[in-house]
Amino acid sequence: MQPISRRSFLKLAAAATTAVALPQGLKIDFQAFAEEAKAGEVTKVPSLCNGCSSYCGVWVYVKNGRLWKIEGNKTHMKSRGHICARGHGVAQNVYNPGRVTQPMKRIDDQNNFQPITWEQAFQEVGQKMKALVEEHGGDKFVWLCHGGKESYAQQFMDIIGSDNYITHYATCFSAKTNIWQNMAGGMFNSDFDNAKTMLFVGRNYAGGIIPAAMKRITQAKSKGAKIIVVDPRFCELATIADEWIPIRPGTDLAFFLGIAHTLISEDLYDKKFVAEYVYGFEEFWAHNKEFTADKAAEICGIPAEKIREIARALAKDAPQAFLDPGYHGLAAHYQNSNETMALNVIINALLGNFWKAGGLFPAASTTFGHPEATYYGPVAAKGPRVDGAGVSGEYPLVEPSRGIPQRIPDLIEKGRVKIVFFYSYNPLRSAPEPEYQKKIKNADLVVSINYDWNETSLYTAHYILPENHYLERTEHPKVINGNIYWPAAQVATRFKALESTTSSLALLDIMKGLTKAYGIENLYGYTVEEELEAALGPLGISVEELKEKGCIELMPTVLPKDEGLTFSTFTGKIEFSIGAWRKEGYLGVPTWVPPLVEPKNANEFRLIHGKQPWHSHIMTTNNPYLMAITKEKNGTYMWMNSSRAAELGIKEGDWVTVTSEITSKQVQVHVTEGLHPECVWLPSTYGTFSEKLELGYGQGVNYNDFIPARIDKKTGHVMGQECVVTITKGGK
Ligand code: SF4
Repeated sequence: MQPISRRSFLKLAAAATTAVALPQGLKIDFQAFAEEAKAGEVTKVPSLCNGCSSYCGVWVYVKNGRLWKIEGNKTHMKSRGHICARGHGVAQNVYNPGRVTQPMKRIDDQNNFQPITWEQAFQEVGQKMKALVEEHGGDKFVWLCHGGKESYAQQFMDIIGSDNYITHYATCFSAKTNIWQNMAGGMFNSDFDNAKTMLFVGRNYAGGIIPAAMKRITQAKSKGAKIIVVDPRFCELATIADEWIPIRPGTDLAFFLGIAHTLISEDLYDKKFVAEYVYGFEEFWAHNKEFTADKAAEICGIPAEKIREIARALAKDAPQAFLDPGYHGLAAHYQNSNETMALNVIINALLGNFWKAGGLFPAASTTFGHPEATYYGPVAAKGPRVDGAGVSGEYPLVEPSRGIPQRIPDLIEKGRVKIVFFYSYNPLRSAPEPEYQKKIKNADLVVSINYDWNETSLYTAHYILPENHYLERTEHPKVINGNIYWPAAQVATRFKALESTTSSLALLDIMKGLTKAYGIENLYGYTVEEELEAALGPLGISVEELKEKGCIELMPTVLPKDEGLTFSTFTGKIEFSIGAWRKEGYLGVPTWVPPLVEPKNANEFRLIHGKQPWHSHIMTTNNPYLMAITKEKNGTYMWMNSSRAAELGIKEGDWVTVTSEITSKQVQVHVTEGLHPECVWLPSTYGTFSEKLELGYGQGVNYNDFIPARIDKKTGHVMGQECVVTITKGGK
């Protein structure tokens, strides 16, 4: 049975209704067709959802060569048998009309492209790259990506001498990973199952969903755990909380300082843990002992007695109590994000909950094998890191593994970047200031390896090389760990479930074609199946076993312990006084830092943003099913507090004009009591401006349109909520 598309099905259905008038060839026995389709064999293939960085394990059911359904893998620690709406939508994107169906070459400045063959694409891109690297040096090559679990680009960059592997994390959580690395030697994750009190600040597990996290949080609640959510918005997690406490946006640091002050001044902290495992406690206290809960209350708007009450509740249940380490919300978006993240570490250390049941644990991990090297040719010396991440005199404290992507347009203008590759990344929508980002088109060569007609491809790329859909490929394996505590690492991967209906390729095959045309022979001299086998070999797992189970859990290695804790920092302790900061001439301990901007006038608001549970930021905006949910829920609306709306004469559904220092746009308003009066809130999804993504085009606005591109000096993040907007009634 051949696959049948919805479009051809509708054509056939239309033909059938008028069959008498049509040629013999178009007559179809629908009864027989339906019976045959029903009887088709269903195969089940394991994969990993590509909807967000949770990589949820899924089973892909395939019937008649078409996607039948997907469901969560019960073993996988992030899905535990469940997937979210986004996961279903992203799977269906395999049939999305917004896909790029074959390699494309730009032919003019009006965003017109012509289809070309893969051979032509490889030859032209490979040879242009070679000429540019020979003329300007390999350090002018930049690979910009979402980041995560692929390394093929780095192998190529090692040979040409580029150190410029740059991820999107500056717009997401670069302050969090940076600060936890410097203070505690790496990330720690919450143990929901055994906690008695859970405090979530800037972390909405029901909006930026991890399905298993929500399952475990609700199970803990049903066992009696207390959930406190501090958020300017009545977010989805707040709906199941014991308490939702709205906070003035940008002042979470003050709230945290008030909690820390209460724990210390009321002698509620774990003195044994601090004496044994903390460096710099006295210095921290010396600089912050005037920052009382009363002072915190004046800044953050939460009553001092409530701050003390929360601190006492945490201390009472410690170590089975935690302040969740947070994510996107606070970790890249304020001038004080670094200090806010530092206080997060400090509060948890004062609770003494590291490696304790109901507290925090590091992620379990494992190491894969590698296929034997197949390239033995010359390797260029690495040139300087172009974005200055980790470079003395530029941004020495920024993690080079994350980078500073928002510098790239500027670096192109200065001639320091000549070749830009995008992989699974669309900064024209996901990074601040799209008009500034558009300058990327001025690089000598811009190549976009993305599967849809996104804005970055359309406005900046000279060539688009479409990667296939995740259901259409087998990949090297992933370690499944992190973000939520689980004692054992897991191993899983994507196995090819569907034949591609387009002329797209897996990244490995794209890199093979490009490097060969560049003149590098046999850099990736293996198939992905051989790579998979080599990776799993040392773990004693066969490819067949992984394919049968979809996800394999290793032995537990991260379990509660009371003695002999180790932290990979300069001092081997949790550093309240951060050695890396002192080395660069900063005060070692965090102290109060105000937000960068403040709304002042009657029609001014701070613009904040967040995820909706049915969309993955910008990557699902062109999905018909998820956009249907948006339509039903008026999901493109900007939230505004009801009292402020009344002052401005704004009612539910009214159009308003939102103006920042760089742009002015119109959007409809959702009036609610579930938002702090000082801010407006935009979902992070909408504002598609690629006309080739027809379903999302022109729907709502994007918060990034309003934010100037800034760089935090210590961790390189974008300060994405340091934006004051003026709201005036009226618009479209
Ligand atoms: S949380 Fe949802 S979108 Fe993310 S990987 Fe899991 S199923 Fe996919």
